[in-house]
Amino acid sequence: MEDCLFCKIAAGDIPSKKLYEDEQVVAFYDIAPQAKVHFLVIPKRHIPSAAALTEEDGALLGHVFAVIAKLAREQGLDNGYRVISNVGEDAGQTVKHLHFHVLGGEKLPV
Ligand code: 5GP
Ligand code: ZN
Repeated sequence: MEDCLFCKIAAGDIPSKKLYEDEQVVAFYDIAPQAKVHFLVIPKRHIPSAAALTEEDGALLGHVFAVIAKLAREQGLDNGYRVISNVGEDAGQTVKHLHFHVLGGEKLPV
């Protein structure tokens, strides 16, 4: 989608510190980390938020969470981590392309 920051990052048009990429998803470090380890996992396809997901996206979501589990292991997050997806204004979603924050590497505030 034109004028979408994360579509541009997925396409490589805007640089990012990528940890992982395949035909369906990209993972990259957050530019303003809120924990010792903070990366984002996004589908390459433009989906505005989790509110736009349908039953047809089940396989994609399974893949996203398998990638998150693999990357968390690689990043040494053996003691746990948090996965967050903000939806809409009240949650503070600033980028309108579905993304999953993965936070860890330290004890996170409850
Ligand atoms: P949201 O607030 O929408 O849940 O999360 C958006 C996240 O994207 C924020 O944590 C923010 O720091 C991150 N972000 C915004 N712009 C960029 C960018 O250009 N590059 C990277 N790597 N992260 C970004
Ligand atoms: Zn997009």
